Order: sequence, then C-alpha cells, then structure tokens
Amino acid sequence: MRSEFELIRRHFTHPAPGTRLPVGDDCALMSPSPGQELAVSTDVLVAERHFFGNTDPYRLGRKSAAVNLSDAAAMGARPRWATLGITLSPAQDEPWVEAFARGFHEELQVHGTDWVGGDTTAGPVAMIAVTILAEVPPGQALLRSGAQPGDDIWVSGTPGDAGLGLKLLKENLAMSEEDRRHFLDRLETPTPRVMLGLALRGLAHAAIDISDGLLADLGHILDASGTGACLEFARIPLSKAMVRQQSLADWPLLVLSGGDDYELCFTAAPASASAIQRAAASADVPVARIGKVTDSSDRILYDGDGWPMVMAWQGFDHFRNV
Ligand code: ADP
Ligand code: MG
Repeated sequence: MRSEFELIRRHFTHPAPGTRLPVGDDCALMSPSPGQELAVSTDVLVAERHFFGNTDPYRLGRKSAAVNLSDAAAMGARPRWATLGITLSPAQDEPWVEAFARGFHEELQVHGTDWVGGDTTAGPVAMIAVTILAEVPPGQALLRSGAQPGDDIWVSGTPGDAGLGLKLLKENLAMSEEDRRHFLDRLETPTPRVMLGLALRGLAHAAIDISDGLLADLGHILDASGTGACLEFARIPLSKAMVRQQSLADWPLLVLSGGDDYELCFTAAPASASAIQRAAASADVPVARIGKVTDSSDRILYDGDGWPMVMAWQGFDHFRNV
C-alpha cells in the first residue's frame, strides 16, 4: 500500500469546478450561492454491518455517494459538495481503493457534486463516512414534519427491490439471471432521486428517502407531522421482476419493510397531483399515490380487497436489531 498522502493524491483528488480550494489544504473553501440555506447530512457505512466486505468496490463507491445524495434529494436540496472520511482495513488493497474512489467520484459527478476533502486512516475494520453539503432556498426544504391530513401519500420507483437483492445475497433463490441482476443492481447501485426532490419543491408538504423500509420511513413523516395514514397495499408499484417472485412468501414484507431502496416517499395536497406527475416525468422517475394522510394517529394498511393487513411499522434499529 502507498503512503496516505500518495493515496490521497492519486485517488481522492479530482477537479472540483464549483469549489474555490478543494483537496490539499487544511480545509476546502467554497462560496455558497447567495441567499441559499445549507442542508448538511452525514452517513456512516461499516463493513459487515452496512455492506459485505466482498462487495464490488466500484459499486460500493457509487452507493456510498448515492445514499448521501439521497438525503439531499429528500430535502429538495441541490447537492454541491461532499467529503469522505474513510478507514481502510488490511482487506482494502490499492486496487480496491482505486475502484472505490472511481465509483464514489462518478456518482457525485452525475449529480454535479464536488468531492472537496476528507480524511484517510487505517483501522481494524473498513468504515466510510460521507458528508454532503447541499443548497436550498430558505423555507423551501422538504421536511418530515409538513404532512397534513387529507394529503396524498406518494412513493417513487418500486419499493422492495433492494430488500430482495439483500435476500439474494443471503439465500439461494431460484430466478432468472435478468431478475437477479435487477435486484442486485437496485441494492448495490441505488439511484438517488435528486432531480425528483428538486422538482417537488413547492409541491410536496413532507418528504423522506426510504432507507429503512417504506412503512418505517413513512412512519417518521407521520411521527414528525402528528398525523396518521391509510395505505393501500395494492397501489404500491411493483417492478416486473418483483411480480415474477410472488411465489416467495415474504414478498409483501419486502415491499413494505425492505430497506435500501432510496426512493422518495412524500405527501402533497390532492390538488397538486397532476403537477406532481409532471414533476416526476421531468425527473424521469415514476411515482404513485399509495394512500392518504389522516388526522387520527392510526396507521392503517389495506390489501387490495379492503382487508386490513397487520404490519410492523418499525424499521431497522442498529441498537435493537443487533
Ligand atoms: P490534516 O492532517 O490537516 O487533517 P490530511 O493529511 O488528513 O490533513 O488531509 C490532507 C488533505 O487531503 C486535506 O485537504 C483533506 O481534505 C484531503 N483528504 C484526506 N483524505 C481524503 C479523502 N478520503 N477524500 C478526499 N480528500 C481527502
Ligand atoms: Mg485529516
């Protein structure tokens, strides 16, 4: 392995067009756009906890950026700058670092985000800490707390696919190579819905990205907003690949509670429905109305035939599910 400084110079230093002073000094310097609020978010990924140690490093780099960009998306903020704190264990050799850094940088570039700094250490286990700085006009950020009774509840994409990808890594399931690829791609290279988040400014009342499962993350909106919800399972969009897995007993559980999809769940006034469809079309991502925000504290889920489904609305909790 090269020295820390060689690694930084070779793999972690990239042109940063939106940054006055990027990697190389004690701090990066950038000029926020006048009048914008900064939205800042950090995520930590730990080997064998958030990702398997043998995950393809290029894809892991993509995902490490994507999960953070997704937080900016969920606020309706435009991601501008990112930092990477990384701890490398003896299992990460230089080809690993090169591929990881390439994936991380490519995903940031897709969203016009500069990689402006970080920290690099060695340690017993690989850890990846990413911080995103994003911009949003004051008062326009999409908070979790804005849902109002009567709002429609919307979701982007096809939840559950990443959860099935994770199941595939743990169990032997028979399916076509094409479907297997689809689920693993959704798990390992999620698409942060940055364009959608921006297009929802002024339309959505509340938003969150789905990292822990649709019900759990919608639950965070309901908690923060002091509202309830009535959902219709049959309205949740399924991928073609998921439709083909309906012999799996737990496919509904994956759709409702599988994590790692990084789709957006949001609420909006019914009068905004057609504007939201246009916003989603401009962002090139499908969205669907899956239920209603209610003024009780009840969380109700119906199947396609009007029968209630009993589901846990809690998601993954690192301090309870260990
Ligand atoms: P210091 O000791 O002052 O913290 P470092 O030697 O840690 O400085 O970092 C030197 C420069 O390299 C800094 O500009 C820092 O932001 C950058 N850097 C270090 N690690 C990374 C990384 N993983 N990604 C991007 N930049 C990094
Ligand atoms: Mg440092």
